[in-house]
Amino acid sequence: MSETATSPDQPKTGEWALITGASRGIGAAIAQALAADGYGVLLNYRSNHEAASAVEAQIREAGGVAERLCFDVADATASGEAMTALVAGDKVVSVLVNNAGVSADTAFPAMEREAWERVLAPTLDGFYNVTRPLVMPMVRRRRGRIINISSVSGLIGNRGQVNYSAAKAGLIGATRSLARELAKRKITVNAVAPGLIDTDMSEDAPAEMIKHIPMRRMGTAEEVAKLVRFLASPDAAYITGQVIAIDGGLT
Ligand code: NAP
Repeated sequence: MSETATSPDQPKTGEWALITGASRGIGAAIAQALAADGYGVLLNYRSNHEAASAVEAQIREAGGVAERLCFDVADATASGEAMTALVAGDKVVSVLVNNAGVSADTAFPAMEREAWERVLAPTLDGFYNVTRPLVMPMVRRRRGRIINISSVSGLIGNRGQVNYSAAKAGLIGATRSLARELAKRKITVNAVAPGLIDTDMSEDAPAEMIKHIPMRRMGTAEEVAKLVRFLASPDAAYITGQVIAIDGGLT
């Protein structure tokens, strides 16, 4: 067997990438891109087993290595159990993409506490629950890439998205501080801020929103994935603490 040959469960790089919210949309595209770069990919998702299995199958058919990891990132107990088992195992996780997120848009006066908490929890508690267990193993290896999927809504705000903007701006704050803490350990932490991207999440977006995008189109999940792939690569070693918008000129 040549040095580069791998068993079905052995990633080419010998390293793994954990992508939260990888059963659909942007997370699925990121998983496919990182798998193509030779990472084994851990596909986290909340409940859509069918969609996650389809992503896993596509990656395997393309010669990649993928495993599903179903848990709710907003649930401290479920996340704690899953992350403890992951860290105790033999997988070296070098890339973490905090992508899981939901929106629940409504004008602020009509925004019930439930909609506030439902949106903040996966983004902010999810960041804490999933990132913290992986940091010390990355520190010990002096290697790691943490990429947080924020939004232009966290940069410039958006009507009806006070909850979502607060969550995504909070994630940017966490990104900047953690980047400073980990820079000396050769671990980079960056945020990506997509504009309007064509996924399930944006299917109810009003058509007139396109008029406000200088490029007059939505972005694709694959375009976002290419940026994440770059940030995860050795070429991006000197980029940390940044927020990179990918929005067709919106911001
Ligand atoms: P999507 O198509 O709705 O997919 C959401 C993914 O997140 C699914 O895999 C879902 O799993 C998972 N998920 C949701 N809540 C979760 C939880 N609590 N625990 C674990 N997994 C969870 O969304 P998307 O458009 O790809 O968005 C991905 C990220 O990009 C989000 O953070 C979103 O805020 C951000 N973003 C999107 C846009 C856009 O226009 N689409 C723009 C800017 C930023 P299940 O399939 O199991 O439900």
